[in-house]
Amino acid sequence: MGALDTLLQVQERDIALDRLQHRRQALPERQELARLDAALEALGRRRAEVGAVRQELSTRQEGLEAEVEAMVRRVGEIEGRLYGGQVSASRELSAMAGEVEHLQSLRSDREDQVLALMEEIEPLDADLASLDRERGRLEAERAEVLEAIRRAEEAIGAEEAEERRARRALAASIPADLMGQYERLRAKLGGVGAARLVNGSCTGCHLSLPASERERIRHLPPEEVVTCEQCGRILVR
Ligand SMILES: [Zn+2]
Repeated sequence: MGALDTLLQVQERDIALDRLQHRRQALPERQELARLDAALEALGRRRAEVGAVRQELSTRQEGLEAEVEAMVRRVGEIEGRLYGGQVSASRELSAMAGEVEHLQSLRSDREDQVLALMEEIEPLDADLASLDRERGRLEAERAEVLEAIRRAEEAIGAEEAEERRARRALAASIPADLMGQYERLRAKLGGVGAARLVNGSCTGCHLSLPASERERIRHLPPEEVVTCEQCGRILVR
């Protein structure tokens, strides 16, 4: 087999390698991964929003509870004095009883507010739990997709290694200058540097060679390298 026929086989291996590279980049799982990443991001934003509202409500709840505790302590202090017997002036006693009554009423009001807040918080906690379950599902799905990508890349990698091995074996018998010319053309011409001449047409650009050019080529020695006048590719005849 001549060097040019072998070059065409190298070309076939290169096309196969280009296809494998394209397959690697265009794995459908990558779109699935992008969809899941977008869903997780949206979910993260939603969770942060709900979490911020919940945080604000529970901060308010804690503030009210602290107020209630302070009132309970204050009432305890006043009642200790009221019933401790140290205070005897009735005006003072009546003022203290009035303060206790006022504090109890305030406390009851704050406790109602706490209950109202707890009712507001409850559905938010349910939302957060549901968002967390959804995140768990999405993350599990994402891990499966990543694993599928890893397996697909591994399979493609094995095919690539096989194609490269075959290409190396073929390229070894091709003169270095012809190989260099092929590589330059291939880089410039969309991955195809050599094409077969079939019935007077270049299969690289699919144009017919002029009769005079066909005639000229016919008389050249078979090892002479000829390129297509139209596209510049190495013609294998
Ligand atoms: Zn051509």
